Amino acid sequence: MPHDHTPRTVLVTGATRGIGRAIAERFVALGDRVATLSRGTEVPDGVLAVPGDVTSTEAVDAGFTAIENELGPVEVLVANAGITRDGLLMRMSDADFDDVIDVNLAGAFRCARRASKGMIRLRRGRIVLISSVVGLYGGAGQVNYSASKAGLVGMARSITRELGGRGITANVVAPGFIQTAMTDALATDQQEKYLGAIPAGRFAQPDEVAGVVEFLAGPDAGYISGAVIPVDGGLGMGH
Ligand code: NDP
Repeated sequence: MPHDHTPRTVLVTGATRGIGRAIAERFVALGDRVATLSRGTEVPDGVLAVPGDVTSTEAVDAGFTAIENELGPVEVLVANAGITRDGLLMRMSDADFDDVIDVNLAGAFRCARRASKGMIRLRRGRIVLISSVVGLYGGAGQVNYSASKAGLVGMARSITRELGGRGITANVVAPGFIQTAMTDALATDQQEKYLGAIPAGRFAQPDEVAGVVEFLAGPDAGYISGAVIPVDGGLGMGH
């Protein structure tokens, strides 16, 4: 732990695998008190696993209360839980559209709303919403997903306007192609197509996103809010 680091209570949604897991591991390594709200319970060592589905307001509120009772008020929220239900617009079902919005966008809203109560009392807080390059770049077959991820930008900026005067920041991290279960599910030809378009010429590891989240939650980022930080090897050219 850095010698001058004051441990914080950090909640990362969806830390059972992939990017969320890497983010949770980062904060554990820093010496923070880390919890996750996920449907699964396979979490990194040192992380308090609170079972919960972000599509349920009751589960989110109960999960926050359990975390606060155990670890104290949540000072850093990383809304990471996300899903894809890809398909072409013409054939996309209402359920596939609604499910993605419910987890990715409304799930982040439910967590941010509940987190804001404690942060306002603390008079400080950091909210980081995990979006995607696809939010602003678009993605064929991802009308639902890109709409949900673009929505997070408006959400972070509105939170910034509402709560910026209370020591609370809200930012968006927009990863590009990160090697996780979500991207392993893409067809090889699709992966090759992306690889050809990424100036860095490679995909990233989840820990490369975790480092940016650590920065946004840290002391040097206190004056950054409403920003979209791409971690995409140049794919979106900074949007
Ligand atoms: P994974 O599918 O590997 O992990 C998703 C996590 O979200 C899991 O821990 C899962 O846990 C959790 N989750 C899913 N639905 C719910 C729910 N309803 N309630 C609570 N937790 C839920 O995805 P990645 O790590 O790849 O992605 C993480 C985030 O990063 C997502 O928001 C994704 O959109 C975004 N992203 C990923 C990119 C990539 O290249 N991988 C690129 C850009 C953005 P469980 O199933 O146990 O509930």
